[in-house]
Amino acid sequence: MRFIDTHCHLDSPIYERDLDIVVRHARDEGVAIVTLGSDLESSRRAVEIAERYPDGVFAAVGMHPAKIGGDLLAEDQLVNIGGFSELLTHPKVVALGETGLDFHDLPTYTRDDAERELADRIRINQKKVFGRFLDLAREHGLPLLLHCRDAHEEMLEMLETWDKTTRGFESRGIIHCFSGNWKTARRYFDLDFMISVTGILTHGAYQTEIMKKSPSSRLVIESDCPFMTPVPWSHRRNEPSYLPLVAEAVAAIRGVTSAQISTETTANALKVFARIPRPQ
Ligand SMILES: [Zn+2]
Ligand SMILES: [Zn+2]
Repeated sequence: MRFIDTHCHLDSPIYERDLDIVVRHARDEGVAIVTLGSDLESSRRAVEIAERYPDGVFAAVGMHPAKIGGDLLAEDQLVNIGGFSELLTHPKVVALGETGLDFHDLPTYTRDDAERELADRIRINQKKVFGRFLDLAREHGLPLLLHCRDAHEEMLEMLETWDKTTRGFESRGIIHCFSGNWKTARRYFDLDFMISVTGILTHGAYQTEIMKKSPSSRLVIESDCPFMTPVPWSHRRNEPSYLPLVAEAVAAIRGVTSAQISTETTANALKVFARIPRPQ
């Protein structure tokens, strides 16, 4: 295992025809995979995929914040906790995610009362669902794979007030495709979270300050496939086997070898994913 792809979506219909080949490519490059669900159905598919490939493919289950609407759902319907809890005992489920907050498409100011009220309801529902996943993480002792867009302040506030019980975890999770600034990164580090970067890094100057200043013990990498394809394959669908290109981009910014980034990020990912078997 040279790399761990800490965030990808192999249940996407885009891989339906040739998933065996995609997984084989990853294996050829020494890339182990964590595939994430984005709602209950997609989480079930992620677990099925992890079951199908005995080596090197693991699953995380969660509810993507962008999938949460503004309906005033009953408390117990906000997340189908029963359905998720059932999946959490599966031996190949190694984390909770994708979960988090995404306020990107929600207007903060509008004269339209109905539009503003809907946006407020969606924000509240996202926070409620995210809160449920924080509870699940504590109950099951699982790390969190977090998505955060235009909501770092709100997310940090929730994490900072969250019970800090870690149940033996060296790291409590990953802020994936990290989009915040250095000050924000430091607050996540203080809460025992890692940050992760994608192939966006290969497209030119992006998060350079974060990549230079972050301690080597806090960085992991991800494909976020099928999105975020690294150069030179930008015209193609992304896949986990391209992950070494992300490591090369991180190495170039930090002025170290990509072998070193491979070693460090894999060790860090194993700290997050206590349920992934250690390499022999
Ligand atoms: Zn995401
Ligand atoms: Zn994702």
